[in-house]
Amino acid sequence: MDSLTSICEALFPPLDPPSKLDHHQPINNTIKSFYRSSGSQKPIPSEVSGVMKDRGLPEAVLLVDDNSHNAAWEAIDYEPDTTTTHNKANNQGRPLEIGIIETLYETPSTLFQSLTNKGLDVREDPKDNLYKIKCDVVIVGSGCGGGVAAAILAAVGQKVVVLEKGNYYTAPDYSSLEGPTMNELMEKGGMIPTTDGAVMLLAGSTVGGGTAVNWSAALNTPDPVLKSGLRNKG
Ligand SMILES: Cc1cc2nc3c(=O)[nH]c(=O)nc-3n(C[C@H](O)[C@H](O)[C@H](O)COP(=O)(O)OP(=O)(O)OC[C@H]3O[C@@H](n4cnc5c(N)ncnc54)[C@H](O)[C@@H]3O)c2cc1C
Repeated sequence: MDSLTSICEALFPPLDPPSKLDHHQPINNTIKSFYRSSGSQKPIPSEVSGVMKDRGLPEAVLLVDDNSHNAAWEAIDYEPDTTTTHNKANNQGRPLEIGIIETLYETPSTLFQSLTNKGLDVREDPKDNLYKIKCDVVIVGSGCGGGVAAAILAAVGQKVVVLEKGNYYTAPDYSSLEGPTMNELMEKGGMIPTTDGAVMLLAGSTVGGGTAVNWSAALNTPDPVLKSGLRNKG
């Protein structure tokens, strides 16, 4: 209900009344109240929810139900694989495993050894309570910008360390559900509004950056859809 109230307010926001109207007509309290009313005021959100419930098709209104099931999946012949869960022990198909250290799974006592095991020259600095890593280049962010730069520099013999604040996921780690996946792959779960709320920013935050998310966000058109005659319509 809170989300719906926010949407109602976004569509019909309250406005500051002008100091005077055309023809210099004075602003009285009724006009002020008209300007200041908004879509979030009672009973508008509850009336909107009533209309959605009574007149909207459930498939159009409820994108995802309480069990994270999307009613549209059946229509497009899509079945998410929800059987696999995050399993770090399964290293199959984790191509970056050889060079990656996931601090999520490290403790202060294991980190030093893990860094050294990856062939890095690490010195402990007890005075400042940190580790110093010797390398030629530090790259912040592992998207196509940072990732390609790292690969080119490493190929010519530079010792490169890439710092990535997002976690490392491969196909078996995903639940195939949109909600949890947004939290795993996107900065702030994909919801970063500008301070005035006018623009939403969408930025990937995972190993591989936004590039890992957006490189090919397309599904093959399911056969039943093609057979329904879409193919003949171009
Ligand atoms: C919805 C969407 C669809 C897109 N579709 C396409 C498409 O079809 N084709 C196409 O070519 N492009 C597409 N793009 C654009 C493309 O994803 C970006 O241009 C590209 O990912 C930018 O690469 P990048 O390396 O500059 O940054 P990013 O890929 O954004 O990577 C930045 C990385 O840096 C990390 N990071 C940031 N700050 C820090 C920090 N302080 N410490 C450590 N790590 C940090 C982030 O976690 C992130 O992983 C799309 C983008 C979006 C949002």
